[in-house]
Amino acid sequence: MSIKLSKNLEKIAPSATVAMTQLARELKNEGKDVISLSAGEPDFDTPDHIKTAAIDAINRGETKYTAVDGIDELKEAIIKKFKRDNNLSFSKENISVAPGGKPIIYNAMIATLNPGDEVIIPSPYWVSYPDIVKLAGGTPVIIETSIEDNFKITDTKLKQSITEHTKWIILNSPSNPTGEVYTQYELETLIDVLKQYPNIYILTDDIYEHLLYDRSNKFITIGQLDDEINTRTLTMNGVSKAYSMTGWRIGYCGGPKTIIDAMRKLQGQSTSNPSSISQWAAVEALNGDQDFLKNWLESFEERRNKVFEMINSAKGLKCLKPKGAFYIYPSCEELIGKKTPDGKVINNDKDFAMNLLETKSISIVHGEAFGLSPYFRISYATSIEKLETACNRIIEFCDELE
Ligand code: GLU
Repeated sequence: MSIKLSKNLEKIAPSATVAMTQLARELKNEGKDVISLSAGEPDFDTPDHIKTAAIDAINRGETKYTAVDGIDELKEAIIKKFKRDNNLSFSKENISVAPGGKPIIYNAMIATLNPGDEVIIPSPYWVSYPDIVKLAGGTPVIIETSIEDNFKITDTKLKQSITEHTKWIILNSPSNPTGEVYTQYELETLIDVLKQYPNIYILTDDIYEHLLYDRSNKFITIGQLDDEINTRTLTMNGVSKAYSMTGWRIGYCGGPKTIIDAMRKLQGQSTSNPSSISQWAAVEALNGDQDFLKNWLESFEERRNKVFEMINSAKGLKCLKPKGAFYIYPSCEELIGKKTPDGKVINNDKDFAMNLLETKSISIVHGEAFGLSPYFRISYATSIEKLETACNRIIEFCDELE
């Protein structure tokens, strides 16, 4: 007899980023020479001063339950960070901490969505946004973009997708998977539209804030551009990407008290507090030395330049030079319909990804998972040597297609 699973679960697909990363891990464990470009995870070690803060917390006995949505010390560090980096003013009652960025989005959606509520999501999007919305009982409304639009929505497209049921719009800049960044002007044009709809809330996923390559381009988050818009914005961030702390699981947000209270109620009945030890490490990450970020950024920029140059030179691939994050999103449109040397037809970007993994041991994530085909995502958060080898294998794979 097999157990009947929840109908709710049937609405969603497994996370493609997690699945491809796990597949690469398993192949590696089997002894295959796999280079994984599928995980959105920096390869740097968590800095020592952050690790030491965690060890000190253990030694002090900070190993018990904490306040459900974060210890005061971390909330204070987050408030300082929002002021310092984003010129946003929050009180403790506006801050929520969860075990990662994903749970922040989950909590916000589950706490606010009712059946029929719509959430606008520009595509390509991070794989989990639409599925989280569906699980929370809402309806994702996708605004499609393309390489010709630099993968960004316009005020006109936004206006066209708003209905009386629109509850949220999710923004993500720098973007996963494209690395594109909204300029202040572009955000202002979106604000002009949102001002006409006072019931729409904005969730801005700023997790790649510190990974911005054009030095003249200062990071801008939508809430800092307009006070009224900020009263209905949930500004989300976390320590995973900036401080290379993916496994520690700490995400946080600042936003309207009503939503923060509802998220706390929900978290109190689900995970309870994020790990006490990770919270103390995050206090150090946010309050401590930030100088190493500059070196990491330089290293990411070198990798971006290398990958952009090599991928753009591959037969049939075309990509934009990413402005932030650590992803590049090439189009493989010209290769659709071609055959591998052993006669397999590349019908779509998933075939491209699976054949590349099978024949060249390179793991990437197919564009379909991000809601825009035929593209694929490369995460270049790995060493330049590995990236060079991986790109050479991708070039070879494309060359061999007929
Ligand atoms: N956000 C990262 C990615 O896109 C981590 C994996 C995930 O949770 O999706 O690869």
